[in-house]
Amino acid sequence: MGRKCFISFKTENIEYKKYIQNSLNVDMIDKSLNIAIDSDNEDYIMRKIREDYLSTSTVTIHLIGRFSAENFGEYEQRYIKRELQASLYNGKDNTRNGILGVVLPEAYSNIYRGLYYCNTCGQTHNGIDINDSTTIKEFSYNYYIPNNRCLWIEDDRYCVLVKWEDFIKEPEKYIEYAFSKRKEPIASKVRVRP
Ligand SMILES: [Zn+2]
Repeated sequence: MGRKCFISFKTENIEYKKYIQNSLNVDMIDKSLNIAIDSDNEDYIMRKIREDYLSTSTVTIHLIGRFSAENFGEYEQRYIKRELQASLYNGKDNTRNGILGVVLPEAYSNIYRGLYYCNTCGQTHNGIDINDSTTIKEFSYNYYIPNNRCLWIEDDRYCVLVKWEDFIKEPEKYIEYAFSKRKEPIASKVRVRP
């Protein structure tokens, strides 16, 4: 059974969103947030975004390209930040979405950095740069949820990360995996506005 998805993306990457829409059989809500909601009440804003944009979706597919970094500034990223915040928000009548980060080919080299030697444990780890220079905090925080170790296993993460080339081969598998995170213990450590 397909999960209903909301796609969060930068306008520069609209071709990838269209590909998901037209070539992959993904059940999606075809809307994106492009107007600011005039209110200071965060609960109201979140509810409004959920009702008007995310409504029945249970998974948010977040496209990560070269323009997705927190470092571009809060104003530049205001829509994708709101979209992820509303997706992560867990309210009475609107439950949290699973978050699937899909790394677009243009961002591979910035994010997948290869093996590195770890000074803390003396082992090698796979370097994955999910931080302010590649993604917004709403994603990076919930991908690397703070722990007191030097590495993260899948159970330590709320956000799921996949390369575009792997995602398009088996979209349902990754969507389902992100969906399943909603009920896992790590969901209790999610932060909506890190
Ligand atoms: Zn280590």
